[in-house]
Amino acid sequence: MTITPLMPVYPRCGVRPVRGEGAYLIGERGERYLDFASGIAVNLLGHGHPHLTKAIQEQAATLMHVSNLYGSPQGEAYAARLVENTFADTVFLTNSGAEAVECAIKTARAYHSSGDNPQKHTLITFNNAFHGRTLGTISATNQEKLRKGFDPLLPGFAYAPFDDINAALDLVDDNTAGFLVEPIQGEGGIRPASQPFLQALRDVCDKRDLMLVFDEVQCGVARTGHLYAYEHYGVTPDIMASAKGIGGGFPMGACLATEKAARGMVIGTHGSTYGGNPLACAAGQAVLDVVLEEGFLASVKATGERLRGALEQLIPNHDQLFDSVRGVGLMLGLKLNSDSRAFVAHLRDDHGLLTVAAGENVVRVLPPLNIDDSHIAEFIEKLSAGAASYTPPES
Ligand SMILES: *Cc1c(COP(=O)(O)O)cnc(C)c1O
Repeated sequence: MTITPLMPVYPRCGVRPVRGEGAYLIGERGERYLDFASGIAVNLLGHGHPHLTKAIQEQAATLMHVSNLYGSPQGEAYAARLVENTFADTVFLTNSGAEAVECAIKTARAYHSSGDNPQKHTLITFNNAFHGRTLGTISATNQEKLRKGFDPLLPGFAYAPFDDINAALDLVDDNTAGFLVEPIQGEGGIRPASQPFLQALRDVCDKRDLMLVFDEVQCGVARTGHLYAYEHYGVTPDIMASAKGIGGGFPMGACLATEKAARGMVIGTHGSTYGGNPLACAAGQAVLDVVLEEGFLASVKATGERLRGALEQLIPNHDQLFDSVRGVGLMLGLKLNSDSRAFVAHLRDDHGLLTVAAGENVVRVLPPLNIDDSHIAEFIEKLSAGAASYTPPES
């Protein structure tokens, strides 16, 4: 037998973390890494945050799980808090980002199937999008590397170039249910949509009674210095998927919707065994306790600006390697002139610095949201040393 017990679908690297302390991961041999990857925008309070850890420990001992067949004081309180702090009127709780997007797709379709235009089922999505790994969510992207080998995929998606409003509008027809878009593409390479693009999608949705669905799985939950990135743009979706940082490391997701958008999601139309169980809600509440604290979002914005400024200062010193910085808040991307995967591996293996590669030769910089200036200084020092000692592979 040559297959590994853990299904070998990931190209796992040599970092083998066994412990975390704030913005650091500690490997099996005691080696330390500065973690500016945060489990891909998940550990937004860093590792071992006392408030989050305590909330999970206490809830685990009190009541971990009950079925969604029962009343949920924990789920009601948590959903009410999301509703109070967002555009949404109602929330479905999930265990992951892909499930949150699946619920968003179903909600958009159900909006139309329960109304006067049941033929409206197609969501227009965008090149380089990433919405997850389920059959539905890989159907929602045209990225060949995600789809290949899994045909037949789900019909009901059409694909336009990202941030190209005319191309998106050209695809609208009588079967269009709406648009599914990441306001800031994550895996695609930290690409923020332009404000006029998102506003124009909003306008056509209003005009034609379509659903604007935002996938904020990566850019949501305080990462941009706003609780959700739609606030940064001043463009409000009808439906939104959230996950990654929402449980601070506890597996959790949410599909948020307005009352109007959720009109088709009635009893019996959707469900999840684990979704929003008391343990997950305790984690979600603990994250909200911190990120909604007075001054937290402003501090993310300010920290993001300092980190971005420091990155921009570094570019001229290494202009063969570095091209530009992009992103919002603490969702930053450093665009390289060559393959980012090799450079991310070099930073990790030779400089103890964890970042994440993304599309378009971008190094994703996704630190915990509660880092301070000492972490920024250490990051810049390691990045600078990494750039100085790096030779890009022959292409
Ligand atoms: C990570 C991600 C997902 C999928 O989340 P999972 O929890 O891995 O299912 C969906 N959309 C976006 C934008 C993501 O970044």
